[in-house]
Amino acid sequence: MYGTMQDVPLLVSRILEHGRTIHGRSTVTTWTGEQEPHRRTFAEIGDRAAQLAHALRDELGVTPGSALGTLMWNNAEHVEAYLAIPSMGAVLHTLNLRLPAEQLVWIVNHADDKVVLANGSLLPLLAPLLPHLPSVEHVVVSGPGDRSLLDGLAPTVHEYEELIAGRPTSYAWPELDERSAAAMCYTSGTTGDPKGVVYSHRSIYLHSMQVNMAESMGLTDKDTTLVVVPQFHVNAWGLPHATFMTGVNMLMPDRFLQPAPLAEMIERERPTHAAAVPTIWQGLLAEVTAKPRDLSSMASVTIGGAACPPSLMEAYDKLGVRLCHAWGMTETSPLGTMSNPPAGLTDEQEWPYRITQGRFPAGVEARLVGPGGEHLPWDGESAGELEVRGAWIAGAYYGGADGEDLRPEDKFSEDGWLKTGDVGVISADGYLTLTDRAKDVIKSGGEWISSVDLENALMAHPDVAEAAVVAVPDEKWGERPLATVVLKEGATADYAALRTFLAQSVAKWQLPERWTIIPAVPKTSVGKFDKKVIRRQYADGELDITQL
Ligand code: ADP
Repeated sequence: MYGTMQDVPLLVSRILEHGRTIHGRSTVTTWTGEQEPHRRTFAEIGDRAAQLAHALRDELGVTPGSALGTLMWNNAEHVEAYLAIPSMGAVLHTLNLRLPAEQLVWIVNHADDKVVLANGSLLPLLAPLLPHLPSVEHVVVSGPGDRSLLDGLAPTVHEYEELIAGRPTSYAWPELDERSAAAMCYTSGTTGDPKGVVYSHRSIYLHSMQVNMAESMGLTDKDTTLVVVPQFHVNAWGLPHATFMTGVNMLMPDRFLQPAPLAEMIERERPTHAAAVPTIWQGLLAEVTAKPRDLSSMASVTIGGAACPPSLMEAYDKLGVRLCHAWGMTETSPLGTMSNPPAGLTDEQEWPYRITQGRFPAGVEARLVGPGGEHLPWDGESAGELEVRGAWIAGAYYGGADGEDLRPEDKFSEDGWLKTGDVGVISADGYLTLTDRAKDVIKSGGEWISSVDLENALMAHPDVAEAAVVAVPDEKWGERPLATVVLKEGATADYAALRTFLAQSVAKWQLPERWTIIPAVPKTSVGKFDKKVIRRQYADGELDITQL
């Protein structure tokens, strides 16, 4: 027997039409660096998305299934692309503008992008790549920037505003298969070639609903979210689509991602929520410590992409801003967990929950797998690799236009679960605590040391701005931790004192012997600690090591 309900495909076009009509008054505000930011309502965005779709189909010949790259900051035009491209049946391919040129070229060629939508300010980045991008037939440019950089290059260049002007503001969106491709995002490829994750309409729809649940971000049309996490970093964690479902106003920083303009945006526009990786919140904290600003409008902040040091949460608690820890990956759309504590607890009782990565929402199933492939209990102690499955979790990687989907053994289990490469424990009530990425764990004499535990403990020291701990080879123990520390301005290094401080929170045998001060922790293209750079610098003898 089947259910008797209607079978309406879950499509991005439905999210778009819902937002433009039911939440037509909600706004997308884009920072311009000038006195007044730029504002556009959801109704206007919806109209312009329809105009963009007409232009892409009628003028540029975009057909269902073609991939279109976006090389853009977070702004209203990028939201229009997010809605128009999937809704018309094409595939939105966000390009990470911080990737090295060779990787960007590889990714665009692999995805076979026919069109690139670019912000004018990013043309210096795009222009030298174009001769290596044979599939790209058109470039559509929006926002300020020098167009002459594209002179003489092969693709036809279009001005975004001219291209969409005067076209119809409604579009007969096709009734697509909800499992068809809507968007794609490549993982940054820390090992091997980047891998493409292809989100379906259905996965985006269901993920957006989960983002909006009170259990997760729980925002409404009374909220404004400051979307710092780039639209090229796992679809800005799903926010541009999720907000169109519930009318949450969006504040978009465009290219103004430095701590000073972010602080100004928050003070002037008073967002109630924000989302970004820990590095952004560390930078902002230093800024507002030097020059106090009122951040208190932000009732909640979603922080993820890398472990959030508890000391950072404490510092923001004092500013009246509550950081809520979330875990996810490109492969998980990304919402995998969020650390809202269970009901009925005091602040003090909530704390141990808040510092975990959080619990799994309905729609994400999890299991822990030990080194021998055995499934481990959720007892808060048994550590293993986290595997997940669900309707917005990748089941394969994109194999290219002519290739088959890829299911590498190290990323997918035989029964189809995603192997996350993250190691941790899960408590009996379903809260995940990650101790490390499998590749960052320090294997010392048969015991595992969590680099994240050491980093969190070090970053709680008042003189320490940032700290990254990596495994380095050791004759006696196999591997030992190397502590690399960034000091706060004016502080001086006293390794012995730092080690004593560390000894208050970690076991003695875990204390690093090797120490070094560095000017800044190297970061990946999405602002995470880039530990492979530190390991290489150590191997190449570039670091000035003090042995204790
Ligand atoms: P990349 O692999 O290029 O960093 P992703 O953005 O997909 O790309 O990164 C996902 C990884 O980031 C996770 O597997 C995990 O290791 C790490 N991560 C994400 N959120 C958290 C978090 N809250 N705490 C610890 N690690 C996290």
